Amino acid sequence: MPFKDIIGQDRAIGFLKNAIRKDRLAHAYLFTGIDGIGKRTTAINLAMVVNCLLPKDWDSCGECLSCRKIQRGNHPDVQIIEPDGQFIRIEQVRELSRSLYFRPIEGKKKVCIIANGEKMQHTAANALLKTLEEPPSHILIVITAPESKDLLPTMVSRCQNIGFNPLAPAIITKRLCEERGLDRRTAHILSFLAEGSLGRALSMDSQSLLEKREYLINEVCNISFREAGKISTFAEAMGKSTDDLLDTLEILKSLIRDIMVLKNAKEGVCPIIHIDCMDKIRDWCKRFSSARLFEIFTTINEAKKAINRNVNRVLVLETMLLTISRGEVRNYA
Ligand SMILES: [Zn+2]
Repeated sequence: MPFKDIIGQDRAIGFLKNAIRKDRLAHAYLFTGIDGIGKRTTAINLAMVVNCLLPKDWDSCGECLSCRKIQRGNHPDVQIIEPDGQFIRIEQVRELSRSLYFRPIEGKKKVCIIANGEKMQHTAANALLKTLEEPPSHILIVITAPESKDLLPTMVSRCQNIGFNPLAPAIITKRLCEERGLDRRTAHILSFLAEGSLGRALSMDSQSLLEKREYLINEVCNISFREAGKISTFAEAMGKSTDDLLDTLEILKSLIRDIMVLKNAKEGVCPIIHIDCMDKIRDWCKRFSSARLFEIFTTINEAKKAINRNVNRVLVLETMLLTISRGEVRNYA
């Protein structure tokens, strides 16, 4: 996909196009940012630009034989290294390093994209360092990772780091409507829940998401601190569910966030995510104090982190639900 069609990454792409225009491309780049925002697409297009037979405006044409081969993944001079299972292994990097020393077969530059560079084993990273220290002039390496701190500092210092931004909800909403045929309301909700990642938004199951939201609105958010039995039952049900619990918690967080926005923000400053549930949100606004809402929001965040660390799910959820159940203003008046 040519640069001109990649959305929401104008700054990163502007930087790259400027380097291409001045013929000052580095030998190695590190693209950082969350998953699903266009790092790999941009890296593939960078490989297309440097090998394009008919480049235009410092961008690839997307149509010549070279561009088509790279897009199909069968250009002999462009390779993508990905984790083999959990990790990128030393054997993969050794093989790559050997192949990079040969001159390009068809193209102008040999390009290697190392996707999810944070998954490089320590030994693999050290093996790659040698290539990064003395790169042959005909190579271009692009490493993608969530953050530069996920890689060896010695590796980061040998790459030009380009940060990619999470995408704006409006951009994601538009793409979801176009590509998945979702109605605007559902696309709007998904766009916020995806936290700026188009890839994540595209892979979300909208139907199951709306069902989860119904459950959270009608049951969980209405829980009272007097219903101790219900708290345990909910915690067990949520903890045992095979659905992605982190998604459920993200929906819950977004509901609490909406209440906070309605309670504290000036009209129109922050958009409400669950715009179709305004009656409920207004009602909760009266029932929860700002301090309590903040505490609930924090406790959901903490629960997400704990579940990521594999702490006992039911215990974590019980603590979270207890905090939510104590949320009503009248209990503290
Ligand atoms: Zn081309």
